[in-house]
Amino acid sequence: MAPSADRIVIENVAIATVDAQDTEYASGHIVVAGNKIESIGAGKAPEGLENVVRRIDGTGHLATPGLVNTHHHFYQWITRGLATDHNLFNWLTALYPTWARIDERMTYAAAQGSLAMMARGGVTTAMDHHYVFPQGSGDISGSIIRAASEMGVRFTLARGSMDRSEKDGGLPPDFAVETLEGALAATEETVKKHHDASFDAMTQVAVAPCSPFSVSTELMKQGAELARRLGVRLHTHGSETVEEEKFCHELFGKGPTDYFESTGWLGDDVWMAHCVHMNDSDIAAFARTGTGVAHCPSSNARLAAGIARVPDMLAAGVPVGLGVDGTASNESGELHTELRNALLINRLGAHREAALNARQALRLGTYGGAQVLGRATQIGSLEAGKLADLVLWKIDGIGHASIADPVTAIVFGAAAPVTLSLVNGRPVVENGRLLHADEDAIARSTREEAQRLARIAAES
Ligand SMILES: [Zn+2]
Repeated sequence: MAPSADRIVIENVAIATVDAQDTEYASGHIVVAGNKIESIGAGKAPEGLENVVRRIDGTGHLATPGLVNTHHHFYQWITRGLATDHNLFNWLTALYPTWARIDERMTYAAAQGSLAMMARGGVTTAMDHHYVFPQGSGDISGSIIRAASEMGVRFTLARGSMDRSEKDGGLPPDFAVETLEGALAATEETVKKHHDASFDAMTQVAVAPCSPFSVSTELMKQGAELARRLGVRLHTHGSETVEEEKFCHELFGKGPTDYFESTGWLGDDVWMAHCVHMNDSDIAAFARTGTGVAHCPSSNARLAAGIARVPDMLAAGVPVGLGVDGTASNESGELHTELRNALLINRLGAHREAALNARQALRLGTYGGAQVLGRATQIGSLEAGKLADLVLWKIDGIGHASIADPVTAIVFGAAAPVTLSLVNGRPVVENGRLLHADEDAIARSTREEAQRLARIAAES
């Protein structure tokens, strides 16, 4: 770190580093220099630091790595609260006709709403899997990336696509999909225009055909080849429901994981959302290949999809992060509450009270997320030399003060208020409010765009 870098010093704070040893400090310090963590440890910060622009007394707070979201569909922010009593396939067919009418103005507002909700709750790295690109809808990818950049969060855009419509045995209507060639060309263009491979990148792009039931086998195969040629990651939905499993057996003569393997979609550069219906050999295949999982407990519950076998995945060595999933199937859109939901829902599964503990839940939402996004050397834990993406959770208020253990307080307790979040060393949230966005204006614009979309969909 250059000696001239501005420093932020945080002291008197409980720290859960989420490093490999789960190192914690009851009262410690963090020194941020520029966009990196310079030092972290017990007690006070070193004396004689120069260029200290800010000293923060962290009394009554827990510092953790910033939360990392690994699966989302931002545009759904303006189609929340619809088809509320449906399973996945019925929910999708109810919503596709509306989704197919989105445009750039709508996706920008929806991205702002999605990002605001997550950032306020301690998310420092967001991702958006966007796969609906109606013809003539404008620069949708650009609008989403602009919203993330303005909010100040680190971001991965998973450039999605669909080319298997009803006429080819798929689920989406014919007018909601792209052609194979069009999807591949637009994806390559988005990677070349926006993907930053550097250590402290704020924007990355992944190749992300939507799902086996909305994408041709050829797009899966060529998408994988494209990503590997460009050196970017691969993302899709996998093994979400029993209906999807049945679809794969009928159409491909094999289950989802075997289908993914046959199309080049298992590997340490791949992560998949959901992975609810996995047998022992599927989990072993993910572990053997280093394929990651975005676990989305609230969405899985909302759509009655089932409970992913997260304890078995972790025991096998599968990288697992958390995702809120699109907010048409998880209307809250918050990630910090997913720590608690992941823990509780997995305890309803086979492993019962041994399924997950508070520290494992925190790890899923931080280091696990960094792993599946391919950024574990840069973010996901608080360690000297890593990027300064961190959150100070207020735990001395009514919701948490009577819980002695800070990690138990933020995971088992109510959603803890965020006093400060830093992304790349820069404050993004202070005292629960966003610093680079107007929440009231976003509330208004998202309502207006939701109404505009509903109107256009009703007319068509
Ligand atoms: Zn999804």
